[in-house]
Amino acid sequence: MAIPSYYRVIRALAASALGGAGAVLSTSVAIESAFAQAIFPVCRETCPDPFRDPVGAAACQARISACDGKLASYRAYMTQLGAGVTTYQLPAIYRELLQPFYSANLANWRFGFSDRQPPNNATTDCNVTYFNRANFVLLLRNGTLDGFWRTLFHELAHVDQCQQLGTRDAYAKMWFGNLELAFLQSSNLETIHDRMIMEAAAEAVATSVVSRTVPMRDLTNRLVRPFTIVLTGSSGEVLPDRVTARVGTAQRLSARVTGGSDPRERIWTWRVPGTLQLASAPDNVVDGGNAFQFTPAVAGTYFVRVRVRQPESNLAETIRQVAVDVLPAFPARR
Ligand SMILES: [Zn+2]
Repeated sequence: MAIPSYYRVIRALAASALGGAGAVLSTSVAIESAFAQAIFPVCRETCPDPFRDPVGAAACQARISACDGKLASYRAYMTQLGAGVTTYQLPAIYRELLQPFYSANLANWRFGFSDRQPPNNATTDCNVTYFNRANFVLLLRNGTLDGFWRTLFHELAHVDQCQQLGTRDAYAKMWFGNLELAFLQSSNLETIHDRMIMEAAAEAVATSVVSRTVPMRDLTNRLVRPFTIVLTGSSGEVLPDRVTARVGTAQRLSARVTGGSDPRERIWTWRVPGTLQLASAPDNVVDGGNAFQFTPAVAGTYFVRVRVRQPESNLAETIRQVAVDVLPAFPARR
């Protein structure tokens, strides 16, 4: 059975990193320092004095060497994964809608397509993610993603993890956390994801964001901005929550709707003085559902309400209501 090229790459990388680490081990043991040397500062630790605790000192040095080896492997692996890959910034609409779910600044995240990893895999290298699915990357760039949301939300959780850890090397160290170098060498990369604590945390974030974005995704499962409604009066002026009118004077309220996506349904109801419930008034709905008009016959407070929603979808609906205080008609002129 042919070994996929990325397994051979990681195996070669791990082997060379080990060789390098071995060399570091022999030189660093000779240095009598409380702070054991390390190629990568995040691998540095305070080792016991080799004369007083030779076993502890050797174990400490071995840990540092393994850490250095893993980080070298990480960097080499990411270098081959990202070679020649064009990366993109998340479209504004997604940055705007998803930023509340993440602490890292999503404007700093880049993503691209790289197939030098297992099929359907995605790999986050701190603030860059490589997806092994060209169409996913295309839809994400265009702001028209209509599936695989869990994949996106999971990888963004890794971006958060890196930001919280502070540096790419600290993230790499955590990424390899409880993996043995031997595991890397015999590598079955497809199981790496399942083996790490960071993965469980990223999955929990993904699950939460998937459910919290349900009311933000439309009929086609695309993430869209929430509906907003601006109500305007007869001469196009934006209406406040409460307006005044006179008996016998025609009123026309228009709804300017933004956000969401088609089909957008506008449902108008009203409440006339002396009644307790909102009721529909189909004859008052004009302009293809965009406006509601009426001529108040009695003094008192009328309420006009419009609801905008997308039928059959989970998209959150939006409601706007205006109270119209109707005063008696002007007294007849003499
Ligand atoms: Zn992951």
